[in-house]
Amino acid sequence: MDSKHVKAVVVKRREINPELWVVRIQPEEKIVFRPGQYVTIGLPASPKMIERPYSVASAPEEEELEFFLELVPHGELTPQLYNVPAGGEVFLRRAAKGRFLLDAASGHPNHFLAATVTGVAPYVSMIRDLIIREKAGEKLPYHLCVLQAASLSGEFGYFDELTALSKTHPWLTYIPTISRTWLDPNWKGEVGRAEDVTRKHLDARGFTAADTTAYVCGNPDMIENVKGVLKRAGFPKESIKEEVYWVAEKGA
Ligand SMILES: Cc1cc2nc3c(=O)[nH]c(=O)nc-3n(C[C@H](O)[C@H](O)[C@H](O)COP(=O)(O)OP(=O)(O)OC[C@H]3O[C@@H](n4cnc5c(N)ncnc54)[C@H](O)[C@@H]3O)c2cc1C
Repeated sequence: MDSKHVKAVVVKRREINPELWVVRIQPEEKIVFRPGQYVTIGLPASPKMIERPYSVASAPEEEELEFFLELVPHGELTPQLYNVPAGGEVFLRRAAKGRFLLDAASGHPNHFLAATVTGVAPYVSMIRDLIIREKAGEKLPYHLCVLQAASLSGEFGYFDELTALSKTHPWLTYIPTISRTWLDPNWKGEVGRAEDVTRKHLDARGFTAADTTAYVCGNPDMIENVKGVLKRAGFPKESIKEEVYWVAEKGA
């Protein structure tokens, strides 16, 4: 194996639905990362390994790395990754990357974090890290509002964890929202796409362009649309951070 890669074992799988799963991965050597960063996962192939970047959902303090993954049926890597069982092996790039980090430098007390489905992963890492730091005695000068959008409630992945944490941590608000309400008649939560409800939830919390950093992560169309809402609400470019998971197909 080359010096760029580390072998790792999938130690646990949690199936969310037939196309979404969470894995816990134990690398042979510790991978150092900051909450919000991504790690590249690869599987051997000829002539070279197939690799894709994935946001880490675990906190840096955890022993294992956690990822929230979506199967892209026509994709190169995920159909193979989906077939790796607990006990199976993957490869990780040693160097974690990315600048999608909690913006402490701005001094903003408010952080509005919007995601589609798996795009919640970096926020889970940030929240788990903040909780560990708070337990260690740190005073957190933040209010985080996480808006997670999906078609159906069966796609949320971290619904139980984020709902429970938001009840015990006053600095955290979690708003899951679904768009295909007619297929999910028992859903009692927020409805609409992320862009439909962003302004409402900013205003409800008194989050303004002057005191808030916004984050958008996941689906490229959601990112463009939520950025439009944020810009119309007066957010300057430097107060909007984005992590685009794939390139939107033209004309789609
Ligand atoms: C910084 C970063 C972090 C990421 N983090 C995550 C993560 O935490 N979890 C996760 O599941 N994915 C994440 N992704 C996406 C991931 O890197 C892959 O693009 C994805 O898993 C598809 O890989 P593939 O090889 O199966 O498909 P590919 O062969 O790469 O793609 C096939 C086609 O599908 C499109 N596509 C890719 N992903 C999707 C999707 N989800 N829905 C619809 N179309 C898609 C591509 O644009 C391409 O046209 C992240 C991407 C980036 C850039």
